Amino acid sequence: MGASIAPVTIGRTYYSSGLRFRPGLGRLRRIAAALPEYAALDLETTGLDPARDRVIEIGAVAFTPDRITSTLEQLVDPGRAVPDVVLRLTGIKQEELRGAANPDDALRRLADFLRGRQPVGHGARLDVEFLEAAGLWDGSQQVLDTLDIARILLPAAGSHSLPLLSTEMGFIQPRPHRALDDADATRQLLLRLREEAVALDQGLKESMLALVAPYPWPAARFFAEALTAPNPNPDPEIAVGRESGGRGRAAELPPDDPTAVAALLGPDGRLADLVPGYEHREPQLQMLLAVAQIQSRGGMLVVEAGTGTGKSLAYLVPSIARAVRHRERVVVSTNTHTLQEQLMVKDLPGLREWLPWDFKACLLKGRSNYVSLRRWRRYLAEPCKDAEELMFKLKVLMWLHTTESGDRSELRLHGREEVLWTRIASDPLDCVGIHCTKEDCYVHRARAEAETADLVVINHALLLADAEVGGGLLPEYDHLIIDEAHHLEEAATRGLRQEVDGPGLLALLERLARDRVDGGGRAEGLLEELQLQPRLGASDDAFGEAAPQAIAAAVRVRELFRIADVWVAARLGETERREESVRITAALREDDGWAHIREEAENAVTALAALDASLRRAVAGVREWLGGEEPDQGVRELEMIRGRLDGSLGVLDEALLRPDANRVYWFSQVSRAENLLLRAAPINVGSLLRDRVYGERRSTVFTSATLAVGGTFDYFSSRAGLGPEIEELILPSPFDFYHQALVCLPTDMPLPEDESFDAAVEQLIASVARRAGGRTLALFTSHRQLRDVHAGLKQRVDLDEVLILGQGIDGQRRQLLKTFEEAERPLLLGTASFWEGIDIPGERLSCVIVVRLPFPVPTDPVYAARAEQLREPFSQLALPQAALRLKQGFGRLIRRSTDRGAVVILDNRILGRDYGKAFLDVLPPASRYVGPGAQVANRVGDWLARV
Ligand code: SF4
Repeated sequence: MGASIAPVTIGRTYYSSGLRFRPGLGRLRRIAAALPEYAALDLETTGLDPARDRVIEIGAVAFTPDRITSTLEQLVDPGRAVPDVVLRLTGIKQEELRGAANPDDALRRLADFLRGRQPVGHGARLDVEFLEAAGLWDGSQQVLDTLDIARILLPAAGSHSLPLLSTEMGFIQPRPHRALDDADATRQLLLRLREEAVALDQGLKESMLALVAPYPWPAARFFAEALTAPNPNPDPEIAVGRESGGRGRAAELPPDDPTAVAALLGPDGRLADLVPGYEHREPQLQMLLAVAQIQSRGGMLVVEAGTGTGKSLAYLVPSIARAVRHRERVVVSTNTHTLQEQLMVKDLPGLREWLPWDFKACLLKGRSNYVSLRRWRRYLAEPCKDAEELMFKLKVLMWLHTTESGDRSELRLHGREEVLWTRIASDPLDCVGIHCTKEDCYVHRARAEAETADLVVINHALLLADAEVGGGLLPEYDHLIIDEAHHLEEAATRGLRQEVDGPGLLALLERLARDRVDGGGRAEGLLEELQLQPRLGASDDAFGEAAPQAIAAAVRVRELFRIADVWVAARLGETERREESVRITAALREDDGWAHIREEAENAVTALAALDASLRRAVAGVREWLGGEEPDQGVRELEMIRGRLDGSLGVLDEALLRPDANRVYWFSQVSRAENLLLRAAPINVGSLLRDRVYGERRSTVFTSATLAVGGTFDYFSSRAGLGPEIEELILPSPFDFYHQALVCLPTDMPLPEDESFDAAVEQLIASVARRAGGRTLALFTSHRQLRDVHAGLKQRVDLDEVLILGQGIDGQRRQLLKTFEEAERPLLLGTASFWEGIDIPGERLSCVIVVRLPFPVPTDPVYAARAEQLREPFSQLALPQAALRLKQGFGRLIRRSTDRGAVVILDNRILGRDYGKAFLDVLPPASRYVGPGAQVANRVGDWLARV
């Protein structure tokens, strides 16, 4: 059995590893005393590629906690022209660099300066790479990165970038983006972080010290020193209390009459005086009334509410009134985290302040979003493999000290931390629910909160997961609001999708057992570890049988995926899409090569089934032996692996041997992971949604800004499983599109299939972006095309003033959007995820360019399987899907009643094909220019210049 762990208390001190390790203070002080001087460094360069780019300036500051001991500053001649954007950013002039120090000499001086000191940098990976490329980085040195430490000690900072932290903390930095000043800002930041560490709560410091003490890494030494330094201002312990639920308002009941509820948001209503910036919006009142009525009489309502309607208040106010007056719980489901955040951080707190009645609302997420304290304690007790893992544990320790929710979104995980999180996330296969109390478990607590809430906010994934397991994940509820309902089908499909990852499955089998390298006749792995525990003797037979079965199953699975890999590769073209899929159709199952796959699948399934039977016996034997006692980590791991193998076995069996006509199966080659995945998903999710999600509710409201095509909800209803009984409401946006937006439709663009299309796209984007002064978002449907156009734009000298940002080239979505909002003349090229969910009001985003009409990819396995089931797949599926997507793309432009901008559609088919009208019809009634492409930039420029 594992070490027994004392109960812990949520919200304060639960960072015990269970192995209370208290390092000697003397030893830690000795570590601290042995710290060398620090040397903060920074390089300014011509770009981000150490192989191609050159250093133009170096700066470094040597220091101790008490003083600066030395500095180094040197301009460097890169021997080539420096990009304007770099010159502008740094303020360095090209002529200052001519004849400055030689790069090798300068970097050597820097390397000498660092020798014997502890290098410190902020996000210093790139600086080190430049030194490495010059052969001047001492491999035994490790940088102390203030970015990592800031993420631990300043978790609430809006951004951890050096300029932002410098501004927020008031550092002295006369010349930002100059090497010496940035190095000095890094010095100041490290010292400030040290103060933060010194001032931490004593109990927390002890836990952190216990964690860092065994390790030699620079970050561990930094913490060892700072956490043992005397705290000049020790704070008394302050008890962390829970926010009280009620506000002691008069027990007034909301009105029962829907008209009276709607009147609250009317021009003479109670909220009109209270809601900041209140605007009377007729569509909002109409929606509010319709929601109140449907909740009162029961039924289903579909509402399309154009941008600017204020739809969240229009459903929240009647929902809260209904829940409070009738004690009928309302669940609000969203697709995106952004909307959840808007509801939880802005709308609901506002309503708590403005509404005259008390109500309780809470956010409930899927269990993998919450930390499992039991798993955390087990993980904390394990040694760290590297400094990154240590930093992750320190970050979690800090967070657990304050979190009320245990929700990972507070942690802001980066990169590999996402993987480490899976070690401590609540996992149904590693959960001993009955052994943990509500006080000891965030999952229990979140659910208990939801049980007492009037309104619970969730996401579509959790809604679907609850439906799939037949309930139990959500509290009982009466009314459902599905916002961002245009994503419902896709979210349901993703939520119900199952997959087997070949290498992942093999890793599980090998963890159970694999042949010893020395061929000693016994297997090594988890099964042997368990078998060696004498007290598990009761199940010895089953363990003994399972080990060779696991080895045999691994052989079969490896062979199956090897053959499948070859089969898939033969069917994939040379295209460069990020994820390539091969749908396993009935025709392909007749293919010659398939017989081979089928044979290997039978072997693999038989081997996995035999293993599963032994594992079940082994686990049952252990459970019986334990008689209700909690099993140790090894047994829990075995149960987890068995559960996962069982899931994989089911998918392999169904997809490769016994396909279900209502499901689609495909192999996916995900280039990033280089893994072959076998996937399965339902073709029609509508009936499941109807039967298990809204069928049991008293009322359901579906809403979004984009649900109707051609003035009807036929498409949405058919996909979401809705019948003729639904009530419908289409509410136009209150914006004055005729005066706010210009739609440009160039008449002379080549067709998208034409070879000259990319060049024409590049030309038009360049001319518009130049004329609009950047501030342009170009929406693509293909990564390949985006990359080609991006490369062409980068070559153009006429776009020097514009900052060109390509998705996947210059960063990922979040980072690119941030740069877009901060840069002076940005031009952003994006694909799928940029078509919606971007809210950049004002002049910053003044032009949206739609490169192609966003038809679905016909080879997408789920789309193709759905299309096959329809009589007219183009008009019933492809066209409405694309039209709604175009509507979403357009929606990025006008976000407020004061916004003004242009949308340019480069796909000529909107004018030349019969179906073009379906696209034109979904666009709001904006002003329009139809004419030669050469005129578009001027038209856009003139439009934007008009006040
Ligand atoms: S109940 Fe499950 S999720 Fe909660 S702490 Fe216990 S093991 Fe973790």
